Amino acid sequence: MHGSMRAELLMIGTELLLGQISDTNATYMARVLATSGIDLYWKTTVGDNAGRIVEALRLGLKRSDAVLCSGGLGPTADDITRECVATVLDAPLEYHEALYQAIEERFRTRNRPLTENNRRQAMLPRGATAIPNSNGTAPGILAESDAGVIICMPGVPHELQAMFEETVIPYLKRKYAVQETIYYRVLLARNVGESRVDQAICDLMETQSNPTIGLLASPGVVRIRITAKAPSLELARIMIAPMEKQVRQRLAGVTDVLEVEQ
Ligand code: ATP
Ligand code: MG
Repeated sequence: MHGSMRAELLMIGTELLLGQISDTNATYMARVLATSGIDLYWKTTVGDNAGRIVEALRLGLKRSDAVLCSGGLGPTADDITRECVATVLDAPLEYHEALYQAIEERFRTRNRPLTENNRRQAMLPRGATAIPNSNGTAPGILAESDAGVIICMPGVPHELQAMFEETVIPYLKRKYAVQETIYYRVLLARNVGESRVDQAICDLMETQSNPTIGLLASPGVVRIRITAKAPSLELARIMIAPMEKQVRQRLAGVTDVLEVEQ
């Protein structure tokens, strides 16, 4: 079976909207999704506001298979993601003693004081499962519904990253039978303007869908990225090779020999 799915990101935190922190979690997740062959079509950022988080979750379930959330799972009053998920799923929050014991154990081994607030982190919307957090205390949330899947991860980057790679990506790939992976090859054009490169290959960029061609200019070098989506690396190489040849032919009179970025 061969599947595909569309995911979207919901980044939660007023700090993000105020520009106080950079949204490195979104950049990270986008990159991992792309290399995992999972299509990402939308990314939304909301503050710690229940009404807007609920609205964004509802919209996400309407247009995507999975809504991947970051932030707001902590013990403090502004951490309201779990309550919002419960509202959207119309499911009560239930306390799980075993989860609480695990949280308590982590606090003990780290010699940190546990407060009454931490009990909230052992609450899950009915029917949802906890995602283990190998780098912290708050478990993530995986909630399946008829409308789609909601996955919530903590905002702390190394906690989110561990959950994403250990649990979330394998879960999504299995559930949606995603077998394709994205591979790319980057050619470097030196000492030539982006517009000259663009002129020479823009028709290829517009008409090709697999592989696709993209340009990224930085001082002194234009990167030409040829990206293929394929079930194996060998197949991706076979798809990329003729496109690379065409790009090289087009640019022969425009710039020096193109190097391959390692
Ligand atoms: P905590 O238990 O620490 O409260 P949480 O799941 O509630 O975790 P947040 O309170 O939203 O998450 O964020 C915790 C910290 O993680 C923030 O102060 C910030 O430093 C970092 N963080 C949050 N969101 C992001 C993001 N999108 N990108 C990068 N860092 C982030
Ligand atoms: Mg928090």
